[in-house]
Amino acid sequence: MERNRRFRRGDNPGDRLLAVLAVILAVAVIVILVLMMVENRFGTKRPPENTGTAEVSATEAGPETDEPSGTAGESDVSAPDSTAEEPSSAEVTTADPTEKQTTEAVTTAAETKDETTKAAVTTAEETSAGTEAPPTLRYLTSPVEGAVLVGVSDNGFAIEEKDGITYVGGVLIANKTYSLPANYDPGDLTEEARAAFNAMQEAGRQAGVYFKIQSGYRDYALQKSLYENYVYWYGYAYAEEYSAHPGHSEHQSGLAMDINQDGTWTLDETFENTAEGKWLAEHCHEYGYILRYMKGKTGVTGYIYEPWHFRYIGVEAAKKVAESGLTLEEYFGITSVYPE
Ligand SMILES: [Zn+2]
Repeated sequence: MERNRRFRRGDNPGDRLLAVLAVILAVAVIVILVLMMVENRFGTKRPPENTGTAEVSATEAGPETDEPSGTAGESDVSAPDSTAEEPSSAEVTTADPTEKQTTEAVTTAAETKDETTKAAVTTAEETSAGTEAPPTLRYLTSPVEGAVLVGVSDNGFAIEEKDGITYVGGVLIANKTYSLPANYDPGDLTEEARAAFNAMQEAGRQAGVYFKIQSGYRDYALQKSLYENYVYWYGYAYAEEYSAHPGHSEHQSGLAMDINQDGTWTLDETFENTAEGKWLAEHCHEYGYILRYMKGKTGVTGYIYEPWHFRYIGVEAAKKVAESGLTLEEYFGITSVYPE
């Protein structure tokens, strides 16, 4: 080190050395620049070629997979294979982009596989009803402990039964197709439904809307007399639209309620135009409730539009159903028709 320093300061040989070093440095810089240009030229040119072909083959592999199993593995292999006709030199330099593309192809292939297996399970279940539950049955909430699988809905949800109560996708169902046993008697709204209503009512007050439960839990006997009264006063056809047969009312579940404005007792379609009706329709799912009998869906739910009737199914489930914009019957793929 010290020797070098002495040379640089004083002697000519040192200056020469410096000059040589400078030339070498300049040459090195030029070489590096040239190399970068060359790499740029090829580096940017190749990925588009590859992404183009990989994308095409991936989307082609997606929708056209007919076979339920094995196609996922095949399609992710065949994606790069189909492009193999082109010069192999491309594979050497652009290993990175192709890798990304193939992993994307794998995920799309996996997604389509999921769907196809689901479909396969449903059809298999339909043809051999009553056999054991495949693991891919759908649930909106979770399986009911101790329940027996009795079928699969049109949309692939498990239909389970326990103590005479039907659960679809883990959700208790009381409609015209599925009834509650006469002796099913929770006695009142369930604690969970009540607590959720209280929270909803409080949030409503904060927002300046004031509502109450007009009709919550109704037992089998009460529903029976209600229905019979409807038939007596208004006739059979009217009663069928407005009142449930005993055992078929959601009010017997302890999970449903009719909500009205504070200080009001009449309930009709105009409730939807009140501040309370609007607020509830918009926010009820945040508290685990859904509007059960939607407008224009009488053919599906079996009931007229009831902007006042709300059903508790839990927050997560309610959000999913609300997002779908569907009635519970449509979401699950079930009917609401009285058995013959
Ligand atoms: Zn009701």
